Amino acid sequence: MARYIGPVCRLCRREGMKLFLKGERCYTEKCAIEKRNLVPGQHGKARKQKLTGYGLQLREKQKVKRIYGVLENQFRRYFEVADRTRGITGETLLQLLERRLDNVVYRLGFSTSRAQARQLVRHGHFLVNGKKVDIPSFSVRTGDVVSVRGASAKNASIVHAMEEVKGRGIPDWLALEGEKMAGRVVSLPTREQINLPVQEQLIVELYSK
Ligand code: SF4
Repeated sequence: MARYIGPVCRLCRREGMKLFLKGERCYTEKCAIEKRNLVPGQHGKARKQKLTGYGLQLREKQKVKRIYGVLENQFRRYFEVADRTRGITGETLLQLLERRLDNVVYRLGFSTSRAQARQLVRHGHFLVNGKKVDIPSFSVRTGDVVSVRGASAKNASIVHAMEEVKGRGIPDWLALEGEKMAGRVVSLPTREQINLPVQEQLIVELYSK
């Protein structure tokens, strides 16, 4: 599956907020948002973001896509599934994105960013219910156990990430068993448990036009 390979701090600057795409760097003064929170481009300084209507909806969609590292076509497919599912479409959309294996690996603290989680999953470092899964978009279910594959327990990136993100906290819908290097999906995430500063209703409005 294709992914964005351009400069990532630029994405945060475009949204005017930290999207935490780079792991540890995002928590330091090197963060581009800390240094110069300007819209990217030649006229960034002059561009005032007074958005209304379509502009607001578009920015909200772009923000969520960028946070989860999903491109337009795949994001649209998530929306279509959410739209067909019973419940509040915006919340279902966020729930589908949260259930991605790369996001779960990140949330459990086995990586410092979703991008790193995606690469680690791709390289086959994780098991789901004892079976190797190397598809970052794999959707976890309640009761699934995500664990670090035996030989990968000493992987420097995973060990480093586990140390680094200790204070970050694990969402209530996941349970980490650090000594086993595994985590269980206790329940599917509710909107309250998805700690993201986004107005998902605007995305629904955008796609419903
Ligand atoms: Fe965004 Fe992280 Fe870059 Fe800061 S360091 S601009 S939060 S990706």
